Amino acid sequence: MNDKYVGAHVTTAGGVENSLLHADHIKAAGFALFTRNQRRWESHALTVESIRLFRERMIEYGYTAEQVLPHNSYLINLAQPDPQKRARSYDVFIDELRRVELLGLKFLNFHPGSTVGIISKDEGIELIADAINRAHLELGETVHVLETTSGQKNKIGGTFEELAEIIERVEDKSRIGVCIDTCHIFAAGYDISTLDGWQRTIQEFDRIIGLEYLKGLHLNDSAGTLDSRIDRHANIGEGEIGLEGFRALMNDSRLDKKPMILETPAKREWDKELELLRGLIRE
Ligand SMILES: [Zn+2]
Ligand SMILES: [Zn+2]
Repeated sequence: MNDKYVGAHVTTAGGVENSLLHADHIKAAGFALFTRNQRRWESHALTVESIRLFRERMIEYGYTAEQVLPHNSYLINLAQPDPQKRARSYDVFIDELRRVELLGLKFLNFHPGSTVGIISKDEGIELIADAINRAHLELGETVHVLETTSGQKNKIGGTFEELAEIIERVEDKSRIGVCIDTCHIFAAGYDISTLDGWQRTIQEFDRIIGLEYLKGLHLNDSAGTLDSRIDRHANIGEGEIGLEGFRALMNDSRLDKKPMILETPAKREWDKELELLRGLIRE
């Protein structure tokens, strides 16, 4: 029995509640969304009507919170060395968490942060864990999901070790997790282009972080080569990872019942890309 929550990062144009129409339209078994404008500091509050419709449609279209992986704003940097800028990031982070709760969702996926070249990675990791611990105390039930990054120089999260170090410093381990972005880990040097490579990578993930922390995946092929540190998504099967890598993932039962989200350039063809992925599943 294969139970993959494969889907895509759908648009919320016209209101968060519309994300469900798009997810249903492409027959996604899971989806991601932005709960606020991902490139602006200011954002309108979610309206009561939007929240009501979103919750109604979750039931109507048969999605549970486990199938949805909201992604936070690109502007947030919890490792920002400048205290004032860091405070602004933290405020938006809290706003995102509130939105997730209002929508009845469970996860919030985010990029751990960047040292901006001013502080060490260790100091950055300290700041990120600190922000997570504070946010945990401040509100709710949301599970904070750290995304793997492509190992660009100042960005934290390009190795499993860095993510493990953040988790180690988080007090409430029941509310922290990791999202593997296939393009990012490949660009960071984890070769998942073959079945063997995938097995080695997921074993390493288990040894260093622990499989229990894996909450979701982003499924993207990689335009950059292995260890290139280039974060450029390609359509599934058209990049350097290739179909064999994705076949390995689609047949790995350890990934069952976790949102697996396309962020590929295909966009208008996501329904076909989802079909392609499902077609990789062995009977
Ligand atoms: Zn991301
Ligand atoms: Zn991603």
